[in-house]
Amino acid sequence: MQPLPVSVYIRDFLHLFLPNSCLICRYPVQKDQAICSLCHAELPFTNFWERATNPLLEQLQARTPCAYASACFYFIKKSPIQQILHEIKYRTDKDLAYIMGRTFAEKLLPEGLKHKFDALTPVPLSAQKLKKRGFNQSVEIANGLSSVLDIPVETHLLDRIKDGKSQTSKSRSDRYYQLNGAFVVDEKNVRSRSLLVVDDVSTTGATAEICMSELLNAGANSCGLLCLAYRADF
Ligand SMILES: [Zn+2]
Repeated sequence: MQPLPVSVYIRDFLHLFLPNSCLICRYPVQKDQAICSLCHAELPFTNFWERATNPLLEQLQARTPCAYASACFYFIKKSPIQQILHEIKYRTDKDLAYIMGRTFAEKLLPEGLKHKFDALTPVPLSAQKLKKRGFNQSVEIANGLSSVLDIPVETHLLDRIKDGKSQTSKSRSDRYYQLNGAFVVDEKNVRSRSLLVVDDVSTTGATAEICMSELLNAGANSCGLLCLAYRADF
């Protein structure tokens, strides 16, 4: 039998004190960490917060009034980001969604969003889907964002009455058509307020576009979008 590399012994030893494993490399990490510092440094951050404008904002502004838009990561197929989003969505990892929301918020803090927006409004799931999945990943991401940005999460402003099929293979116009009429707005609590829609991943931008349009039609003062990942190649 081949002797084990020293790094494996070190890893096993560290596991005695640090019971959590890095989601990507399985190295032991602190309880409140999901990803080790080495893997964290390798994540494809967009750095949109360092620029005056960005492709997500421009994509949205071409179709609907959008006051602000940012994404934390580029969505890259078969990369750790795809793995993270999958864990958040399908393996009901609420803590991971919250931690990633906090990671994003720490980047956004210098933007002063607290002074520009009144509330975070997560893209809702239909009651049926929520029951099946057990939690809404966008709410957990929003809770993580809120804990750092100090902007409240309000889950009642948008409600979803219709599901769309998976958006991966749909064009933006297909997706827009499919989602039109999917959301209803709590008009009384939206009027004259500035709101940030929160989503996990923006592919065609259609979901965010419809949510923002509904909020603006209901009298919102301004709208923006925060999403964890942005798929640039769509
Ligand atoms: Zn790692």
